[in-house]
Amino acid sequence: MTTELEVGLYIFMLAGFLGYHIITRVPPLLHTPLMSATNAIAGISLVGSLVVAGADYGPVSTVLGFIAVTCSSTNVVGGFLITDRMLSMFKKSEEQTGQQRRVPFGRVLVTLVILGASVITFLYWSATRGEGTEWIVHPTLHAETLKYSYILSAALFILGLKGLSSPKYARKGMHAAAFGMLMAVVGTLFHPEIVTYKWIIVGFIIGSIVGGTMGLRIPMMAVPQRTALSHSLGALAACLVGISEYLRHDGVLSTVVMTPLGFEVVVGGLTFTGSLMAAAKLQELLPGHPITYKGQNVLNLTLLAAIVGNLIYLVIGPAVPMLFYIMVGLAFVFGFLLVIPIGAADMPVVIALLNSYGGLADASMGFVLMNKIQIITGSLDGTSGFLLSLLMCKAMNRSAFNVLFGAFGKVDTEGSEQAAEAKGTVRSISPEEVSVLLDSVRSVVIVPGYGMAVAQAQHGVAELAKLLMKQGINVKYAIHPVAGRMPGHMNVLLAEANVPYDQLYTMEQINPYFPEADIALVVGANDVTNPAAKNNKNSPLYGMPILEVDRAKSIIVLKRSLRPGFSGVDNDLYYDPKCMMLFGDAKDSLNKLFAALKS
Ligand code: NAP
Repeated sequence: MTTELEVGLYIFMLAGFLGYHIITRVPPLLHTPLMSATNAIAGISLVGSLVVAGADYGPVSTVLGFIAVTCSSTNVVGGFLITDRMLSMFKKSEEQTGQQRRVPFGRVLVTLVILGASVITFLYWSATRGEGTEWIVHPTLHAETLKYSYILSAALFILGLKGLSSPKYARKGMHAAAFGMLMAVVGTLFHPEIVTYKWIIVGFIIGSIVGGTMGLRIPMMAVPQRTALSHSLGALAACLVGISEYLRHDGVLSTVVMTPLGFEVVVGGLTFTGSLMAAAKLQELLPGHPITYKGQNVLNLTLLAAIVGNLIYLVIGPAVPMLFYIMVGLAFVFGFLLVIPIGAADMPVVIALLNSYGGLADASMGFVLMNKIQIITGSLDGTSGFLLSLLMCKAMNRSAFNVLFGAFGKVDTEGSEQAAEAKGTVRSISPEEVSVLLDSVRSVVIVPGYGMAVAQAQHGVAELAKLLMKQGINVKYAIHPVAGRMPGHMNVLLAEANVPYDQLYTMEQINPYFPEADIALVVGANDVTNPAAKNNKNSPLYGMPILEVDRAKSIIVLKRSLRPGFSGVDNDLYYDPKCMMLFGDAKDSLNKLFAALKS
C-alpha cells in the first residue's frame, strides 16, 4: 500500500522536474523577478504558521506561530508586490507612451491582501461569538475545503511561474499565483484545529505592513538585499514551526516525522542566519570582503559533523529535547559562519543557494505536516534557487565550490594600481570630446555594469540613448548575464528607466554585432568586458564568457578610476589603443555628455 510519505516523495520529485522545465524557460531578462517571485511563493510556509498560531498547542507554540505568521506574511505581501513592481516596468517599444511611467502599485495584489484580511476578521468575529466556522462550512467539509483550495493554488503557482517565460504574460501569471496564495490561506483558515484568530490577525497585519512597505518602497538597486532578508524570514518561519511541532509532541516522534523535522529546523536555522549575513553584507552594514581565519574550514566541518551527529541520534535514539535545542542553536551559528568567508560580490550566488535551502526547509515542513502544497512549492523554490546559482556560476566560469570556499573578491587595490602603471598608456577623454565623436557615428552599443547601478545612472543612460536615436543613431544595449550583482539586475534597472526590453540584447545576440558598432559605450561595467577572459590563460577570469567590446571600432569607458571591479583583476581593455576613458561618476559624466550633445 502506498503510504503518505511515498506520495509526498513522488510529489516532491515531480514538482522538482516540473520546476526544472518551467524555470529553464525563464529568459535572463526576467531572472531578478523570478528570484522574488519564487520567494513570494515560498511564503506558503504561512499555511503551516497559521495553524500553529491559531491552534491550542500551548502558549509557547502560539508565540512561535505568531512570529512565523508575521515572517511569512512579510514574505508573501512584500514578495508579490516587488515582483509586480518590477514586471510592470518591462515594456516593448510600441507599448511606450513617451512619458515617464508611474509604477502602478499592484492594485490587484492590494485587493487580494484586503480580501484575505477581511476573511480573517470575519472568522475572528465569528469565533469570538463562540460560533466557530461550523455555521459557514460544515465540519465534514473542512478537510475538503483545504484539499481543493490547495490543489487550485498549486495549479495557480505553476501557471504563475510558467508566465515568467515571457514578459508579456509574466504579470498576469504573478497575479494568478497571488490569487493561488489567497486560496491556500483562506482554505487554511477553516482548518479544524484553529480555535483563535487573534494572533493570526496581529501577525498578518504586522507582516503586511512591513512586507508592503518593503515591496513598494525599496529601490531597485536594493533588490538583492531585500531578497536575502526575505529568505531569512521564510526560513525562520519554517524553523519555528518545526520547533513548535517538536515541543507539542515532547520530542516523541516517529522516524518518518523526525527526519524531515530535523532537516526543517537545521536548514531553516542556517538559512535564517546565513541570509541575514548576506543581506547585511550587501547593505554594507558588515564589511563586504571575505572574512577568513586560520582553521576556518576545520571549524565549519566540525560544526556540521556535530549537527549531523545530533540529527542522526535524534532520529534513531530516544527523545532528548536538550540535544534538539543544541542542534538548532548550532544550525544558527553554522549559517553565520558559512557566509562570513564569502565576499559581498558573491552574495547573489549565495542568495540563490539559500533560496533553494529555504525551499527545502519549506518542503520538509510539508513532510512533517503532510501538507502537499508545501511540498510542491518547496520543491519549486528549491529547484529555482539551485538552477539560478548554477547559471551564475556558469556565467562567471566558476564552480559553486569556488564561490562558497574560494574567498573570491579580496580586491588588492594597491597591487592592481601598480600593475596598471606597468601596462602602458591609458587615454582619457572629456565629455565634450565624446559628444564630438558621437556626432559622426551611426551605431552605438551601450554596455551597462555594476557602476551604473551604484551611480544610479540608468535614467541618464536612457536619456542619452533617446537623444542619440533622435539623431538617427542605431542604439543597442548589451546585457551580460552577470553584469551587476543579481542575474538580470541590469534589465530591471533599465526597465525602471523606461528602456523597452526589445532594445536589450543578450551576450550571444550582441557579440557578433560588435565589429559593426562605431562606439561601445561602457557605463560602469568592468569584469564583463575584460578581454583577458579570452586571451590570457593566466588570468583568474580566463574562460568567463564576456561582452566582446574590444571588437568595436572604438570604445569609451565611463568609470571613476582604473580600479578593478569585483574580481580584483586589472582590465586589459583600458590599454587598448581604441579605448578612451571618461573618468568620473557615471551619472555626472552622462549629465555632462548630455549637456554637451544638446549644445
Ligand atoms: P564590476 O566588474 O564589479 O565593475 C564595476 C565597476 O563599476 C568598477 O570597476 C567601478 O570602477 C565602477 N563604478 C563603481 N561606482 C561607479 C560610479 N559611481 N560611477 C562609475 N563607475 C563606477 O561590474 P560588472 O562589469 O557589472 O561585473 C559584475 C561582476 O560581479 C562580475 O565579476 C560578476 O562575475 C560578479 N557577479 C555578478 C553576479 C550577478 O548575478 N550579476 C553574481 C555574482 C558575481 P571605479 O571604482 O573605477 O569607478
